[in-house]
Amino acid sequence: MKLVSVVVPCYNEQEVLPMFYDEITRVTGEMAKTYPELTFEYLFINDGSKDNTLSILRSLAEKDKRVRYISFSRNFGKESGMFAGLSNAKGDYVVVMDADLQHPPSFLPEMYSYVRDGEFDCATTRRVSRKGESKIRSWFARKFYKIMNKISQTEIVDGAQDFRFMTRQMVDSILEMTEYNRFSKGIFSWVGFRTRYIEYENVERPAGTTSWSFWGLFKYSLEGIMAFSTAPLAIASLLGIISCVIAFILMIVTVIKTLAFGEDVAGYPTTICVIFLLSGLQLFCTGILGQYLAKTYMETKHRPIYIASETETSYLERKKERAEAEQKKDE
Ligand code: UDP
Ligand code: MG
Repeated sequence: MKLVSVVVPCYNEQEVLPMFYDEITRVTGEMAKTYPELTFEYLFINDGSKDNTLSILRSLAEKDKRVRYISFSRNFGKESGMFAGLSNAKGDYVVVMDADLQHPPSFLPEMYSYVRDGEFDCATTRRVSRKGESKIRSWFARKFYKIMNKISQTEIVDGAQDFRFMTRQMVDSILEMTEYNRFSKGIFSWVGFRTRYIEYENVERPAGTTSWSFWGLFKYSLEGIMAFSTAPLAIASLLGIISCVIAFILMIVTVIKTLAFGEDVAGYPTTICVIFLLSGLQLFCTGILGQYLAKTYMETKHRPIYIASETETSYLERKKERAEAEQKKDE
């Protein structure tokens, strides 16, 4: 028998969660018929939701033994959610997918067919269109992949997603990366292994709203670059060299000009411009340095990636104890 763990990070997903549960159980039910060797567990991560996500998870766990959940003490972000899911999944295979049905469960049988015979260690989807997304957003996304792949050794496929069907071996390798600043798209690619990409058209959310603002995504992409490339640190040296060369040429020009035409005191505006430009560049580069220093600072603190406040076991046990206490009281 092979166990498949389906890891689902959820943040304010009360609207889609019941739909997701119906769909995932339907698909895995069919899969278990075609592949009798498969059993499933669903591991939901409640990432500090402010709506009824937790109570939905509680009731799912009560009626379905395959449902497990970990509830965070506050919102730690999707990356922490995925890490918690991967570290607590017991399966021989682990699936990571969103709760909003934008990662259609109907892909699972095809994904499994690729990893089943050991030809691939990971099957994942790749969006070929960004239908339903704003033009500016898609433009920035495409630029991000271009820049990232130029300056980082870790290749990230354009349109790659966090929807993955992985073997235990790959999951264990991912878990060995215990960094605090997690950028999963980079981590999945960094660990290597043979990955099969399945192309598909973007699907829109049936309900609920995305928790990513444009700025949120922009900041996330900068974090991704910093987590997987140190190229920005070289910008300072590069700009330094360029301005030295310019200064050297200017020096020669000034000397020749002074010798040939005598001295004149003009050039005040140019001086101001140059001062502004160079001090601006210096501050910019110091800022980049500062960003990397900040990341290093956070890493050296070795803070936990997430803090769980409740799991399905703790909840069900507490419920049982309470029921027993009630019963005793009645007697
Ligand atoms: N999510 C999470 N923590 C967060 C934000 C999002 O666990 O702080 C989950 C969310 O519930 C969903 C997945 O991450 O299952 C993707 O989020 P969303 O649909 O908002 O992002 P998008 O699909 O727009 O990239
Ligand atoms: Mg989504």
